[in-house]
Amino acid sequence: MSKILIRGAKILGGEPRDVLIDGETVAEVGTGIEAGDATVIDAAGQILLPGLVDLHTHLREPGREDSETVLTGTKAAAVGGFTAVHAMANTFPVADTAGVVEQVWRLGKESGYCDVQPVGAVTVGLEGKQLAELGAMHDSAAGVKVFSDDGKCVDDAVIMRRALEYVKAFDGVVAQHAQEPRLTEGAQMNEGAVSAELGLGGWPAVAEESIIARDVLLAAHVGSRVHICHLSTAGSVEIVRWAKSKGWNVTAEVTPHHLLLTDELVRTYNPVYKVNPPLRTEADVLALREALADGTIDCVATDHAPHPHEDKDCEWAAAAMGMVGLETALSVVQQTMVDTGLLDWAGVADRMSLRPAAIGRLEGHGRPVSAGEPANLTLVDPAYRGAVDPAGFASRSRNTPYEGRELPGRVTHTFLRGRATVVDGKLA
Ligand SMILES: [Zn+2]
Repeated sequence: MSKILIRGAKILGGEPRDVLIDGETVAEVGTGIEAGDATVIDAAGQILLPGLVDLHTHLREPGREDSETVLTGTKAAAVGGFTAVHAMANTFPVADTAGVVEQVWRLGKESGYCDVQPVGAVTVGLEGKQLAELGAMHDSAAGVKVFSDDGKCVDDAVIMRRALEYVKAFDGVVAQHAQEPRLTEGAQMNEGAVSAELGLGGWPAVAEESIIARDVLLAAHVGSRVHICHLSTAGSVEIVRWAKSKGWNVTAEVTPHHLLLTDELVRTYNPVYKVNPPLRTEADVLALREALADGTIDCVATDHAPHPHEDKDCEWAAAAMGMVGLETALSVVQQTMVDTGLLDWAGVADRMSLRPAAIGRLEGHGRPVSAGEPANLTLVDPAYRGAVDPAGFASRSRNTPYEGRELPGRVTHTFLRGRATVVDGKLA
């Protein structure tokens, strides 16, 4: 078995330590560990984190392999420091049967760059009318625990209630894309001062907040877990904070782009800024950062949404919604949360690894960096500064809102069960 000695990394930003990996496991953590026959990585000045876990990734396979495949998406994940991703169900065919989730799960196993945990659809065909075979997907080899119609909202209250009741039996969770569809018909961007000026159809905050309010009440009523995808408004934060104060089993995520970008960018009419939920206001951004810092929002999730060039390089109204995010997520979190003093690196480990793994009930990930644990690890150079160059992405798609923007930090190494998937910032 191969041995790797990571020399002098700050574990979760603490004092420098040596970490010895032996085979698939962290064998020893200490100071002055003898290298012996191990490969040595000099990690002075770098931060060692548990491998990042994404609760919200669109890998597009099966069906849209022109934008991403499980292989290219897991490569992008590894470059971004992720060792596990949850693959959303809005593929073609939809991941609403045991057969499709097992296919995605198998493709993930074959990739070897990052673990892939398929998410199952809540309803057949994401149509919101009839529950999908949740039990069969859970009992399949893929062992699905997270269910979501993401991209669409489970807007029927009875269907949502039944889904919550059903997944309770096996400690599953419904991850809701909170968007009242009737309130967002024809919407192109956030409803507010900018949309009024530009004359674009607005997407009101209440469309998100009304569904979150309903769903936290439903989850409390049936005693089940609900997870809110990509929170984007200050009002959503208040509702989740209130639900948590009641002791209800509610968790929530925020995307990196909602921590950094605002609807002012829509003035450029560059469709790279078109996303669902839409970019909101500066006040929303600040409320989301504060909520992530105080734990009201449990975790960061990328909502990595690859699209081919032709679906984004068109007029605003016709463009697809979504941004790629796996390869820039940690840098955006460093800029918005760490470099602002809102969160330390231990906090980053919690919000980007421990908590998402716990919400997904994912075993072997989101573990402390200590002897005996699986060696799923990410090494970050926080002093690095560089402009984002999409031409160098491992993802098949290039629809990043950060092209040319200087972001801090870089993942230098990623280890999946002791095997380096990224070395010196490059795919191994
Ligand atoms: Zn969504």
